Formats: sequence, C-alpha cells, structure tokens
Amino acid sequence: GNVMGIKDKEEKIEHKNFIEAMEDSSSPLDIAEQRRCLPAFTVREDLIRTIRENQIVVVIGETGSGKTTQLTQFLYEEGFYKRGIIGCTQPRRVAAMSVAKRVSEEMGVKLGNEVGFTIRFEDRTSPRTMIKYMTDGVLLRETLLDSGLEKYSCIIMDEAHERSLNTDILLGLFKKILTKRRDLRLIITSATMNASRFSEFFGNADTFTIPGRTFPVDIQFSKYPVADYVDAAIKQVLKIHYGKKPGDILVFMTGQEDIEATCQVLQERIEEIEEDAENKNPLSILPIYSSLPADLQAKVFGRSEVRKCIVATNIAETSLTVDGIVFVVDAGLCKLKVYSSKLGMDILQLAPISFAQANQRSGRAGRTGPGVAYRLYTLTEAEKEMYVQPIPEIQRTNLANTLLLIKSLGVDNLLDFPFIDPPPHATIYSSLYDLWCLDAIDNLGALTDLGHKMTSFPMEPVLSKMLIKSHEFKCSTEMCIIVAMLSVPNVFYRPKERQKESDRSRERFFIPESDHLTLLNVYNQWLNHRNSARWCVQNFLHEKSLRRAQEIELQLQSIMMQQGMACRSIGRQWDPIQECICSCLFVNAARFKKFGEYTNLRSVMSMVLHPTSSLYGTADLPEYVVFQELLLTSREYMNVVTAVKPEWLAKYGSVFYSARSDHEAVLSRLKEAMDDAKKKWNQLETSKTQKVVTNVQ
Ligand code: ADP
Ligand code: MG
Repeated sequence: GNVMGIKDKEEKIEHKNFIEAMEDSSSPLDIAEQRRCLPAFTVREDLIRTIRENQIVVVIGETGSGKTTQLTQFLYEEGFYKRGIIGCTQPRRVAAMSVAKRVSEEMGVKLGNEVGFTIRFEDRTSPRTMIKYMTDGVLLRETLLDSGLEKYSCIIMDEAHERSLNTDILLGLFKKILTKRRDLRLIITSATMNASRFSEFFGNADTFTIPGRTFPVDIQFSKYPVADYVDAAIKQVLKIHYGKKPGDILVFMTGQEDIEATCQVLQERIEEIEEDAENKNPLSILPIYSSLPADLQAKVFGRSEVRKCIVATNIAETSLTVDGIVFVVDAGLCKLKVYSSKLGMDILQLAPISFAQANQRSGRAGRTGPGVAYRLYTLTEAEKEMYVQPIPEIQRTNLANTLLLIKSLGVDNLLDFPFIDPPPHATIYSSLYDLWCLDAIDNLGALTDLGHKMTSFPMEPVLSKMLIKSHEFKCSTEMCIIVAMLSVPNVFYRPKERQKESDRSRERFFIPESDHLTLLNVYNQWLNHRNSARWCVQNFLHEKSLRRAQEIELQLQSIMMQQGMACRSIGRQWDPIQECICSCLFVNAARFKKFGEYTNLRSVMSMVLHPTSSLYGTADLPEYVVFQELLLTSREYMNVVTAVKPEWLAKYGSVFYSARSDHEAVLSRLKEAMDDAKKKWNQLETSKTQKVVTNVQ
C-alpha cells in the first residue's frame, strides 16, 4: 500500500507539471512549434512568391489553416512593413482584438506596439505598429481621410466570405485605389465557400489555395423538429459529456441571451449530477459572444484539465478557431440584421442559417480528428428553409450610413459604384429617403452641409445628427454624454433574483420627461460620486458600461472640437435638450393613446412604452413623444423615449406634421403627407436611382 501511495503522489506531481506547462501556452518555444504545424506554414514560400508577383491575390483555406494569424507575420518577416503598415481587416470586433493579441504573443511583443488593433472607439496602436488588425468599418472610415490608404503597404481583407456590408463596400473602393496605388498589395482571404466570386470581381485575380487537412465529420440531423433549441442543446451536451468519447464541445447559439441561458442551465444540471456522482466528471462551460469582456473571451483558448464546452455565436463559424473540438452542436439559427419595410428600420431577426454555414459549423468538429456534428433540426426542415449561401448584408439591411459614406467619398452617382452584388432598388431608395428625412441629402440627392458633417462621426446618422444639432442648441456637453450612453450596453443591471430591488433603484434616477435625460442623470451622478465602483454596485449599475461611456464621450468631444464645435453645457435646463432631441428624432414621433400605449404618427401603428421607461415616473404620460428605437418582441416597444411639444414636431417635421391642426386631422393627414413627400422626392430622384439599378444589375 505504501509503495503504491508514493507512486500515486509522483504521478500526481508529474501530472500537475504537465498541466502547468500546458497552461503556459504563451511560452515562445511552444508557440513557435504550433506555428510550424499550421498548413499555411508548409506553403509559405509559394504563397509569398504569388503575393510578390500579383497585386491582388485571393487566398482560400480551411478555417484554422493560419490565414488570419500567419499571413500578416509572413509579410512582416519578408520586410513588407518597410514600405508601410500591414493591415488586416475583420468583420467582427472580437476577432480583431483576439487575433491581434494572439499574434503579438506569437511575435513576443507587447500588444499595441509592433502589433496592434483598432476598433470603433478603441485604438490600440502606436507609431511603432507594423501589423494592424482592425474592423472593416475602421478601414472604410480611414479611406475618408486618406483615399489612397498611403500608410499601408498591404491590406488583407480577411473573412471576405462573410460578405459584411463594409467589406463589400471596401472591395468596390479597392477597384479604384489599386489603380492609383500600384505598389499596394491586396490579399483577400476567404473560407472555401464563395471564394470564386472575389477572383471574378477583380478580373480573374490569382487565387492561392492553402491545402487543408480535415477529418471526416459524422453529421446527425435531428429526427424530429425541435421545439426549444436551448433545451435540446443542453440535452445533447449532457449526452455527449456523459458518453464515452473524449473531446471538447462547441455549441452554436444565436446571441448573448440564449448563450447565457444555455450556460446557466447547463451549469446547474452538471452541478446536480456531479453532486451525487462518485467519479467526478466536471465540465468547463465557456460562453463567447461579441459583447463579452475580452478577458472572458480569452478563456475559450485556455487549456483545461476537464472537457470544455464552448457556447458561441456564429463568431466561431470561421473567425475564431479553438483547437480540440470533436463535437459540434448546431441550433441552425443566427441573428440577422434585416431591413423591415413595415417599420422602416433594421431589426435583428432570428433566421435559419444557410447550408454553407451549416457545413462550416459542422466542419469545426473535424479539425484535429474525426468528429460528430449534431444538428438540432431535421433534414426536411433544412431542405425547406435553408438557402444554399447566406444573403450578403448589403442585400438585406438599411444602407443609409453606407450611402452617406459613399457619397462623401465623391461618388455622387451611385451608378458609378462597383458593387460586387448590387443592393436591391427598394433598399437604395428607402435608405436615400431616410437620409433625406434627416436632412443629410437635398432634393437632388446631393450631400448637404449637415450630411458632410455627419460623416465625421463613426456612428449611425441619427446619432451624428444629434451631436451636430446640439451645438446649435448649446447643449453639446450633455449630448456627448447622452450619445455615449446610447452607444454602450445597457447600464442598468437587473439580476433575476433581485428584480424588484433593482427596479426601485433605477426609479431613483428617473427624469420623468425623458429616458435620454435619465441616462444623462445616471452618468452625472456617477461623476458626482467620483466614478465609485461601490456606488455602482449599490445602485445596480454596470460600471463597465459607464466607464466605456466615458471613453466614448471623450472621443466624441474631440471630434466635435476638430469639427469646430467646441462643447458647451446648458446646465440644468432640460427644454433645449428635449427640443434638440426632437429636431433629430421627429420622424419617430408618437401620440398618447391610452396609458402605456402610443400611436405612431407616421404609420398610425400602435406601440407600447417600454416597461423600463422613466416616463412612467409620473402618472401623467406626455401627449407627444419621440423615440430612439423600436424593440420587437411579442409587441412593438418604443425604447429610449423623450416627451416633446407638438409645436416642435410641427417646426422640425413640417413635411410630416402640419402645425396647429387638431389632432385627429393631423393623424389622418399624416399618411397622405408622408406618401406625398415620398412621391415628390421620388420624382426628383427616380431618373437617377432607376438608372443606378438597371445599370448595376
Ligand atoms: P484561419 O484564419 O485560417 O481560420 P487562424 O490563423 O485564425 O486560422 O488560426 C490558426 C491557429 O491559431 C489555430 O490553430 C488557432 O487555434 C490558433 N489561434 C488563433 N487565435 C488564437 C488565440 N487567440 N489563442 C490561441 N490560439 C489561437
Ligand atoms: Mg481567419
């Protein structure tokens, strides 16, 4: 017995050292070894030669072959940085951050020095930065200031197959940039789906395929339609975990809510089972989605003694690769931004993924050995509901912001713009119409001064307008805070177990005239309490969101300065701030119907005041309000609402709302006025837009 005991101990120590060594994955030797094992490494010389010989190369490779992390380093090692920065774009913020971090580790440098990243409102680069990861939105904005992208020697447009709106627009812009900048290299990388489109778009540009190693994946469709995919996923994970085979699990969900729900319930179930179990078999459950704090995101890459179960959005489809996945559980759905013509705005909609995505997801199980993919939908459902390829973002969302950018780049005539896939006529039309409502373009579709100014702000047109207008109303200090607060995740914390308590706490911040002002109030009180973290906890506020808002506020102030609109405070006068908000949001106006319910002045549709609104702070709900956005769940909820005076609506929205008429007449005439305005504007623009569309298609 004694002897055995010692041996046991030794084994334990050995095991512990092994784990420690594994955990310290950032040791340079280990990392160098990992690099050499990647498929990209084996074709390095050929790949570099192809890039040297061609201005444009489309690089195709399986996910995980090293496109994102290695290409930039190859170019760096070959000295391309001497002629300018090596840039690499990502459609997703999370990917830009996490990949930059990984590459800085591989190169053994501090993140932000030689290797950095830039995402909206966050710049982690320095004059020393030679490899820069960024979102495609950031590069698109850079073309506004520097149309030749002079500071770059090469640009890698990564994840092009995702066909994000910004990537599509950039590809169009590159057609011109590359003729001006003969020395600039463009590398477009794509997973195996959709790749030929890019080569064709650039006149049959050279393609380079990184040979992949993949193992067979056994694909199992559900036998019966699944009623609750969260529940089904949890059951499937438990089945795998308590089955015989080892290997990590990757679950595809749609977004933060269902990821959190899955993780929570799964955790509870595992704890229940493990409590009574003789041989412990814990599971490490790790969520990943874009708004998850970076330190928690990094956890999915960490080594683990026990089986990992990663619960992810479609970010894990192609942009992030976690090694060791053997099982994939796929809910078959994703959140898609689509334009709702009924509501006149983009909404996030749950939609079936495409076949290409389903295969991509399943493929994640076969990277290091044979795997199994469990699809939580039946084959019949898939055949009936899934498209072969996903629909590019440009063909399904509102383009107001994008068209504003394109116009400010001097493309007056959309007809001249080389879209890889043209947006539908109706979308161009309604997006231009939105810009016209905001006064960003005139009756002839040309950018107004306001429109020009709006492009300096990296945000939705309506938020930019609120900032610019606030200068006129002398309340820009306040508006920078309000817009910053609108740009961060909800500051109010509402834990399930303490909802009542947190609701009461929120009510103490209420300014009953306006949710916008309530946000301002929260922020100012936080400042008054010297940004105290404890105060945040006591008041059910997310400190992280507030700190982020402060960073954004500072950046907005500096843009305002650059635009010659130094910030001014109006003190504690609410009226001018409300009027300013009204002058921007008048298109989203509504009139009191019955308690908690309003009628949309434009669509005459009934809408509910969101239950968390501070307007409930008084028993007398205001007659007229404007709202920032509509939330769609079982009902249509107005979210972030401000009370306004009818004369303001008449003044700023005179096209829509005529002054001094009695309310009923206003309501009935509104639709007419709207249609009229639309028609009038249409006549002016028809010739132009129709030409665009016929030419483009
Ligand atoms: P691709 O772009 O071709 O899909 P990547 O360059 O993203 O491939 O990934 C190459 C390898 O680097 C993968 O094996 C992946 O696991 C590893 N890797 C990428 N990012 C990280 C990270 N943040 N932490 C640890 N490993 C990473
Ligand atoms: Mg990649």
